[in-house]
Amino acid sequence: MAKLTTARSIILETLEANQKHMTAFQVYDAVKHRLPSLNMSTVYRALEYLTHHGLISVADVGASMPIYEAVSNTHHHLVCEECRHISIVAHDEVKEFFDSISHKYNFTIHTNHLILFGLCEKCRQAKDDKSE
Ligand SMILES: [Zn+2]
Ligand SMILES: [Zn+2]
Repeated sequence: MAKLTTARSIILETLEANQKHMTAFQVYDAVKHRLPSLNMSTVYRALEYLTHHGLISVADVGASMPIYEAVSNTHHHLVCEECRHISIVAHDEVKEFFDSISHKYNFTIHTNHLILFGLCEKCRQAKDDKSE
């Protein structure tokens, strides 16, 4: 069992209530009024601890900073490399693929936050228009 200090549980609570991605700075901004003695290194350490214990996920979506979020609802993302728009893909849509890989390679998959990079519809259309 993960041991939750006040800082850890408030950060986890904030990410769960938020239901969206937050950078470490956004987490800090959201919790600092509740934890006046908090500093960025405590936030980083707490995020690291929660990630290590599988309570939150961390992902690199190609932005300058990694993003964190609660893992209470497993999902995946499509990230547009042009406009940085992030769409959510439900785990159900990916689960079948994961299951078949697991089965075929006899491999237990721990990835619970898949990030696929590409172009969104809007940006692909803008590109197509330019090349015509
Ligand atoms: Zn996510
Ligand atoms: Zn786009």
